[in-house]
Amino acid sequence: MERSNPEKAVIIGAGLSGLSVAYQLVRRGISPLLLDQGVSVGDTWRSRHPQLSLNTHRSVSHMPGFTYPDKTPAFPRRDDVVRHLGDFARKHEFRVRNGVEVVSVAQDGVFSVQTMEETVFARNVIVATGRDRRPVEPAIDGFDTFSGQKNHSSAFGEATDYAGKRVLVIGGGNSGFDIVNHLARVPGTRIWLSVRSGSAILPKRFNGLAVHRFSPLMNIFPAVLSDLAINLIQRMAFGNVSELGLPMATSGAATRLLNEQIAIPVDDGAIRSIKEGKTMVVSPVSRIDGKYVKLRDGTLIEPDIIISATGYSAGLESLLGGLGVVDAVGNPVRRGNGSGSSIPGLFFAGMTPGLVSYFHNAGKEGRDIARVISAR
Ligand SMILES: Cc1cc2nc3c(=O)[nH]c(=O)nc-3n(C[C@H](O)[C@H](O)[C@H](O)COP(=O)(O)OP(=O)(O)OC[C@H]3O[C@@H](n4cnc5c(N)ncnc54)[C@H](O)[C@@H]3O)c2cc1C
Repeated sequence: MERSNPEKAVIIGAGLSGLSVAYQLVRRGISPLLLDQGVSVGDTWRSRHPQLSLNTHRSVSHMPGFTYPDKTPAFPRRDDVVRHLGDFARKHEFRVRNGVEVVSVAQDGVFSVQTMEETVFARNVIVATGRDRRPVEPAIDGFDTFSGQKNHSSAFGEATDYAGKRVLVIGGGNSGFDIVNHLARVPGTRIWLSVRSGSAILPKRFNGLAVHRFSPLMNIFPAVLSDLAINLIQRMAFGNVSELGLPMATSGAATRLLNEQIAIPVDDGAIRSIKEGKTMVVSPVSRIDGKYVKLRDGTLIEPDIIISATGYSAGLESLLGGLGVVDAVGNPVRRGNGSGSSIPGLFFAGMTPGLVSYFHNAGKEGRDIARVISAR
């Protein structure tokens, strides 16, 4: 496409966020071009570990107007999500170009979207490259000297490969709990969970009930009320978690999610494994020296494997570096809490978690972005 005849909208990334925006644009008569470096739709989920199932209930974790087939579990598995996204993209026949990596975006009247092969010109650009694009490793003295195996949670792999191993999981957030939930089922694994700060924890099921089903209700309450409800559910499900060595949360989980974008950890076996002594909650790591890991309370431990469950960044520096819309750690600087940026026509989708689900948020962002673009 020529500079004089730019695309109305180019979406970088055809994951659930990019596809949600595409759906809303098409409803408004705009056919966006989606560029994605993956080989096929759903690659991000395909690359995640095989035990993964959603923490969010299937009733609120689907693409707009498109539900999961009957018999899909309440918490869809990784492969259910891969299929769901692929089927959705095929059904709507979006213009998705796979295997196309965008290397930079510049703006001079129109946007120039530079791929490895060509420049695509566009009047509007939606960056939907994922909030989890780049794994973040912990900043710990001597981390590189560790003589055992080091994995980021994004490269967890098969849980059974950890059988009989001593594993240190660094980080007691959403990813840390996900990893411990899976390791807890592996025979002979000894687990240390190193936790720096407290957070509320929600059970995946309580008395057989999928707790997350109630998230749309919590989403209507003011955050402080949701904080109280979450604390109450936690207390009823697990008792006093500080007796298990888990630090007390200093702020409510819903408030933290809204203000700091920190997702709520979900228990699916981790707490029982702590109660049974298979997993031990330990203090933060102060330094690593070869095979020894020194904890802040002075204890020395010798894990075979360290799993860093220390989160991700959006990693947007090189892609958008020249535009002044990215902070020091590569995350987007948005206008207010919305999907817009300081540059008219440049939008972000999928960069904010919510109480209900990413799918739910992406649906709303898609509608907002499509409304603004169709009016430009
Ligand atoms: C382990 C894990 C579990 C999760 N569980 C849940 C859950 O239970 N419920 C929930 O609602 N959310 C969950 N999430 C959060 C969220 O739903 C996912 O991260 C989801 O993949 C986000 O979708 P996305 O479209 O924003 O980003 P992605 O799925 O990452 O898609 C981004 C797309 O952009 C492409 N891309 C990236 N860079 C470029 C480039 N330079 N050029 C071209 N293409 C590019 C990628 O190939 C990819 O296809 C989870 C996240 C993780 C990490």
